[in-house]
Amino acid sequence: MKVGKLAKTYRVDSGKQFRLKDFDPADTAHWRSKDHAESALQEGIARTAEMQDKLFAQDRWAVLLIFQAMDAAGKDGAIKHVMSGVNPQGCQVYSFKQPSERELQHDFLWRTTRHLPERGHIGIFNRSYYEEVLVVRVHPELLENGKLPPPLITKDIWNERFEDIRKFEKHMTRDGTVIRKFFLNISKDEQKRRFLARLEEPEKNWKFSATDIRERKYWNDYQQAYEDMIRNTAAKDAPWYVVPADHKWFTRLVISAVIVDTLEELDLSYPKVDPAKRKELEAAKEELLKEK
Ligand code: ATP
Ligand code: MG
Repeated sequence: MKVGKLAKTYRVDSGKQFRLKDFDPADTAHWRSKDHAESALQEGIARTAEMQDKLFAQDRWAVLLIFQAMDAAGKDGAIKHVMSGVNPQGCQVYSFKQPSERELQHDFLWRTTRHLPERGHIGIFNRSYYEEVLVVRVHPELLENGKLPPPLITKDIWNERFEDIRKFEKHMTRDGTVIRKFFLNISKDEQKRRFLARLEEPEKNWKFSATDIRERKYWNDYQQAYEDMIRNTAAKDAPWYVVPADHKWFTRLVISAVIVDTLEELDLSYPKVDPAKRKELEAAKEELLKEK
C-alpha cells in the first residue's frame, strides 16, 4: 500500500477554500488497521533517520515541524513515535506552555524564535506562536492581562497576527528553514473517550488535568479559531496538514509520510570530498597505518 499519497491528501497550502468540516477526524484513507500500517510506519521512521543524517552532514537546511491540537489529540505520542529513529543530536523538541513573566516582556514571536532549529537540525515545536491566535483568541482576557499597550488591542489584532506570522514564516523559508505545520484533528467524541480513559486507568491518571475539561467547553470556539488560523496561514512553502487524529496509528503514519516527503524534496546528499580533503584523508590513513 502506497504511503506517498497520504501527505498530499491532508495538505492545505492555500487557505481560501478551507473548511474544517471537509476533513473527517476518523478518516484512515484505505488503511484498515494498526497492523496494516505498522510496516509502512517503520519504513518511514527508518527513511527519516537516513535522511536526517544527510541533513546534519550537509548543514544547510533546517527543518521546523509545528504541532498544534486540542488536548488529548496525541501530539506527544506522535512526536515520540515518528521521531523515534532519529539521532537525538540533530533533533530538538520544545514544548510551549503558558508564557512566563519574562516571555511576556517581549513580542509574541520572541520565545519561539529563541528555539528555532539550527541548520542541519530538525526542530519540533509542541505548540508554538500559533497559540497566540488560538488560546489567546478564545480567551481574549489573556491579551488584556498581558503587557500589550492597550491602543494596540483592536478588532484587527488577529488579522495583524496572521500577517506577522505569514511574513515571519516567509522570512524563515527564504533563509533555509523548511516549515511544515500539523493540526491533529480529533473529534469531540474521541476526546471524551480519551479523557475518560485518563480518569479511569491508573497509569493514565497523571495525564489528566482539570484545565482540559474547562477548555473542552470552548470546543466550538477553538474549532473556529483553528479554521481561521489555517485559512490565513496556509502557504505553498509553509503548508498545514490537517491530520485525522481519532486513530493514533493513522495520525502517526500520516505525519511520518509528510516528514519523509519533506526531506525527500530537499534532495539531500553527503557533502562531496574535494581533492584537498581527499589528500588529507589519505595522509591521515597512511599515518595511522604506519603506527607500530
Ligand atoms: P499535555 O499533553 O501534557 O497536556 P500540553 O501541551 O497540553 O501537554 P499543558 O501544560 O497541559 O501542556 O498546557 C499548556 C497550556 O499552555 C495549554 O493550555 C496552552 O493553550 C497554553 N499556552 C501555550 N502557549 C500559550 C500562550 N502563548 N498564551 C497562553 N497560553 C498558552
Ligand atoms: Mg494539556
